[in-house]
This record gives sequence, C-alpha cells and structure tokens, in this order.
Amino acid sequence: MTGPGVVIVGGGLAGQRCAETLRRRGFDGPVRILCAETEAPYDRPPLSKGVLAGTVEEGATGFRPGEWYAEHGVELLRGARAERLEPESRRVGLAGGEELHYGKLLIATGGAPRRLPSLDGFENVHCLRSLADARRLRTELTAGARLAIVGAGFIGQEVAATALGLEVEVTMIEALETPLAPILGAELGRWFAGLHREEGVRLLTGAIVQRALGGDRVERLLLADGSGVDCDLVLVGIGTLPATAWLAGSGLGTAGVEVDVAGRTGLPDVFAAGDAAIQFDHRFGAHARTEHWDAAAWQGAAAAKMMLGENPGPPPLPSFWSDQYGVRIQCVGHPHHGEAVALEGDPAGRDFEAVFVRGGAPIAGMTVGRPRSIPALRKRIEAGHESGRPEEEEVPA
Ligand code: FAD
Repeated sequence: MTGPGVVIVGGGLAGQRCAETLRRRGFDGPVRILCAETEAPYDRPPLSKGVLAGTVEEGATGFRPGEWYAEHGVELLRGARAERLEPESRRVGLAGGEELHYGKLLIATGGAPRRLPSLDGFENVHCLRSLADARRLRTELTAGARLAIVGAGFIGQEVAATALGLEVEVTMIEALETPLAPILGAELGRWFAGLHREEGVRLLTGAIVQRALGGDRVERLLLADGSGVDCDLVLVGIGTLPATAWLAGSGLGTAGVEVDVAGRTGLPDVFAAGDAAIQFDHRFGAHARTEHWDAAAWQGAAAAKMMLGENPGPPPLPSFWSDQYGVRIQCVGHPHHGEAVALEGDPAGRDFEAVFVRGGAPIAGMTVGRPRSIPALRKRIEAGHESGRPEEEEVPA
C-alpha cells in the first residue's frame, strides 16, 4: 500500500498489536498511532495488581521498549486525541486542529470508566483505567485508610484484594444481591462474595449509593436504605463505556463500533478492535462487546491481517483472567449463555472448575487455582460449539 498508510487511533493493546502485526507481516508503508495519553502504549492489567501494590514498576508495563517504535518505523503521536472522523475525505481530526489522512484506519480507543454523577467533583473519588489513575489512587492507599469501592465487578474486586494487602480497610458496595451474578450466575457470584468476606472485605450487597457527604473530599457515602459508609477515599468501579463519542457524525456508532468477525466496520478501510468494538460473535449469531485482554490482542492483530488482505480466521473463544489474593481465576467462553453450571473440585479450598452447559453442551468454563486446566476446557467447549454448528463460519475475504 502506498500513500497515507495506516492510522491507528488509540495506543492501547489493540492498537499496539495491529502495528506489530503489520510490520511482522511485511507492511512497509507509514504506520502512525495516536495516543491520547502521554505514555507510550502500555499494559493495563498490572494497574489493579502489581502497579497498585508497588511490586511492579510503571516502566515494566510498556509493551515495547521506547526504541522499538523508531526501529520499526511506527510513529507515535503522544498526547494526540482524535476528535473527529471524516470518512469521505479519509481524515481524522485531532484536538488542536491538525488533520491526519489515512489509507486504512483502526479505531482502537478502548473504554472509559462509567461515572457516578453524584460523586463527580470530589478530590478523593477515583476510577482506574490509566497509569495516571493508578498513580493517583496509589498515593491514597496508605495503611489504615478507609477505602469504599462502589461496584464489585472485577476491577473493584482486584483493587479490594490489592488494597487489603496494603493494610487498607475496604468496604465494597454492590447494587446486586450477588456480585457478578449476571455474568457467572448466582452460585459463582456467592463464591466471589465469600472469597472477599473471608479475606476481610466488608461487602455490602443490594446496596445503592445515593449521594456523598463532605467538602472537597467525600467523608461519607449515603446508601438508599438510609445507612452510610464512612471513608477516606472512594473507587468507582461500575464498568466502562466504549470511548467512541469522538465518532459522532461519522456514520459509526458512538456507543461502540459494530464490526464483523474480522473487525470491519461499515465504512471502507475502517476497522475497529478491542474494548471500543462490538464484534460479531459467529458462535451465537449476535454482536457482543468483549472487554478483555485476549480479545483486544486478537482483534488488533486480525484487523492488521485484514488490512493486508489476509484472512485472520475465526476468532477464538473469549477468555479472561483475574488475580485476587494470590489465586488465578480464568474464564473461557460465554458463561452468561449457560443454562446450568457444574462444579468440580474444592471451592472452599480455592481449587475448582465450573463448566457452564447449554443444550447439553459445554459452552463456557471457569477455573480457580487451576491454570493448567484451561487448554483442555477450551478444547471441550470448542468441540461443543463445533458439534452444534452445521457449517464452518465463513470469514469474508
Ligand atoms: P485500551 O487498552 O483502553 O487502549 C485504548 C487507548 O486509546 C488508551 O490509551 C486511550 O488513552 C486511547 N484513546 C482513547 N480515546 C482516544 C482518542 N479519542 N484519541 C486517541 N487516543 C484515544 N483484562 C483481562 O483479561 N484480565 C485482567 O486481569 C484485566 N485487568 C485489567 C485491569 C485494569 C485496571 C484495566 C483498566 C483493564 C483490565 N483488563 C483485564 C482489560 C484489558 O486491559 C482491556 O480489555 C484492554 O486494555 C483493551 O485494550 P484496547 O486497546 O481496546 O483499549
């Protein structure tokens, strides 16, 4: 490809993988990555784990050493935020007025934390998406501090585990009666609740934060039942929304970009990958957003292959991991589609696996403390899908 080359909007995992794959597969045209942040592309999972705990240096989170970009002819535009996409003229408009012309474009702007408007504006209310967020949160996680976490999803749970390790007092406030129940079902949700309570987290369920009391800083969260939680700092971990508002007027969705199995949007030469994308899932015949590392990595590489006219093949089963209290939790497949779940092992000993079944076939699995079981589980689930699918899914060329 000659001309303006590839522009990647978003210097996260999906963007990085796209650039690496282009170069590895011989593309020698211009590749530019727009990074809204000032950091070179870095990995986010350590932010709620080692970086927050102080056991992983910030510098160790970079995907590649700084010189890799110059050596591979990948131009990083740091502190460059895309504000507009004009598909007719193939231009991306930046904050500040500059415009970039693209031959092929990858939208990889990830997700942005959902906010709780009643907590906006307080100095000690945090979210956790970026290195800057982690730095800010870390300075407040001192021994004896009282941390209130709003939301018992994976980010909230990982921060709870890390904060306890720093001798912080943790109260986790969850609106659902059972954490994670919509994703993993009530039985496993109860297991997660038990895990945190055993470790010393005060977990409030069916609890809704209504407003905050304090001056510049929140001192007390008031809950809908009239009770309150006194705190020194707050983490809001209530999920993310696709960071795609900048696409308004482009013809693409501003609440996530729908793509086919290979990452193509409805616009010519425009692809999307990672947390900003809503990919077509050929196993269930519907679009789904997969906000996990494995999917972002695969989708970024797949988009690069499509740009080069190669077939990336069908996407692997979605999967993710979480590390809490020294235990590795892994999940593969779509557990929320399961009709029943069977547990094998020792849940109390944090050593078990759960298989989610639909129509008699395994469609998802979760393991706790059993990393070696995942490949076999993945194979079983793949086999279940294959037997239920009349024809191999065709990936458009
Ligand atoms: P991101 O990594 O978010 O990158 C998007 C980039 O785009 C960002 O750098 C952003 O600044 C930039 N950007 C946004 N808007 C613009 C714009 N308009 N112009 C230019 N640039 C822009 N997944 C797991 O499977 N296991 C885990 O244990 C795990 N832990 C996690 C812990 C934390 C704290 C977080 C935040 C996520 C974690 N994840 C985990 C999820 C995983 O990191 C994400 O799924 C992955 O980072 C998504 O990659 P992405 O490239 O789509 O988006």
